[in-house]
Amino acid sequence: MDYYPIFLDLRYRTCLVLGGGENAARKAEGLLKAGAEVVLMTPALEPPTEALLAAHPDRVHHRAKAYTPGDEEGAALVLSACEDDAIDRAVHAACTARGIPVNVVDRPAFCSYITPALVDRSPLLVAISSGGAAPVLARQIRSRLETMLPATYGRLVALAGRLRDRVQQALPAFDQRLRFWERVFDGPAAEAVLSGREAEGEERMVRILEEEAAQQNPMGEVFLVGAGPGDPDLLTFRALRLMQRADVVLYDRLVAPALVDLARKDAERIPVGKAKNHHTVPQEEINRRLADLAASGKRVLRLKGGDPFIFGRGGEELEGLLERGIPFQVVPGVTAAQGCAAYAGIPLTHRDYAQSCRFLTGHRRDGRLDITEWGPFHEDETLVFYMGLSNLPEICRQLLDAGMPADHPAAVVEQGTTPAQRVVTATLETLTDRVTEAALGGPALTIVSKTVRLAPSLTWFHGAEDAPPAFPNHGCLSAEVPARSG
Ligand code: SAH
Repeated sequence: MDYYPIFLDLRYRTCLVLGGGENAARKAEGLLKAGAEVVLMTPALEPPTEALLAAHPDRVHHRAKAYTPGDEEGAALVLSACEDDAIDRAVHAACTARGIPVNVVDRPAFCSYITPALVDRSPLLVAISSGGAAPVLARQIRSRLETMLPATYGRLVALAGRLRDRVQQALPAFDQRLRFWERVFDGPAAEAVLSGREAEGEERMVRILEEEAAQQNPMGEVFLVGAGPGDPDLLTFRALRLMQRADVVLYDRLVAPALVDLARKDAERIPVGKAKNHHTVPQEEINRRLADLAASGKRVLRLKGGDPFIFGRGGEELEGLLERGIPFQVVPGVTAAQGCAAYAGIPLTHRDYAQSCRFLTGHRRDGRLDITEWGPFHEDETLVFYMGLSNLPEICRQLLDAGMPADHPAAVVEQGTTPAQRVVTATLETLTDRVTEAALGGPALTIVSKTVRLAPSLTWFHGAEDAPPAFPNHGCLSAEVPARSG
């Protein structure tokens, strides 16, 4: 962050504005809105500042002189819009020496603070800043937010402000209050206020408050959420909404840190990552923790890479919750096969080349891999192997033994959908060597399909050559195939 955002209380404080033109008038108006008193310092008023003075004779005071150092004394804030280089330099130097915040319009070098683009739904304020780098973009974002936030939002926020103390008393625990406000803002109570029925909205809020206060030990809930394969843009809206709600997040190593960052800022984060050969937290322990946390009233986000029901043990985790009567929701995610296929330009089905598609595991619970159990295999289907990198030589060999042609196309996609994505395309006969040469690590997915031939023409996504790994805590997965880090 280049700037630290704050909101200043300027009520009844004196602010000094230099200049007599349009800019000075506009800036002074903003200060007046925030309750400040304004001293307008300019040798001569111009029509915009004259009008301002006429409109606020009691709160705008004109001092008919040019600024000289010392004039800033006693000001809570100084703003220069006089477009005079010597004065701008002098006022910046004097204010900096005295520790008074100073802003010179359009001259970032002379500003100790900058003013954001604003969506004003007082008491709700949304401030947007590009740090001076792209003010037009900041204004565009403001316009979008303007349309998203109905004008009545101010009413809603003001009402919430009036109820605050009462809510604090009725619901002493932070989690309870959070739940209360979410019920209020997500439901008919807020809806009523936003559509102008303020009394009805308030009544509803009070009723919800009574209900929540009566609930002694509210049961929590588990959100089993698929986070997709890595690119945060592939999250669903529902996943994002629940991520904002959770009190605790349990995530494993196949969730990229960029995704975990999107959870509520003050949510407790518990990594329960399972790296091959070093299971940090055993599955039973994860199941028990999920149930315990929810039973203590928490909303628990169980964040899974890809989709929770595709090689994600989602089913096992829900069984544990069922036994203890804990409510849950499941949010599907884009599974690695879909993400990698789309971002590598390898269609999973195609009317000419692959009329069906299977997702298989390349790593069995007992370590033994005999894929011929799932045969026969067809040249016109797509096979996708999850967790198969360490068994890649074995997978290719067994497919060849089962009668697939040596020149059948196959690919490995590493860190798919992330800037670190790498794709190796080859044939069943050459894939292992190509992957070893490229030193692919994990997570990686193997796609065996005639559609791999389409990759060169359908590729659209290019990772960045020097991108850091998106899964930095992903262990080396392979004995036969060395990971990039060795
Ligand atoms: N539930 C997950 C799969 C978990 S199994 C899903 O639906 O995607 C873990 C395996 O998924 C990894 O070993 C790897 O084969 C695959 N995988 C997950 N994310 C991946 C990614 N970004 N790129 C390539 N493969 C990935």
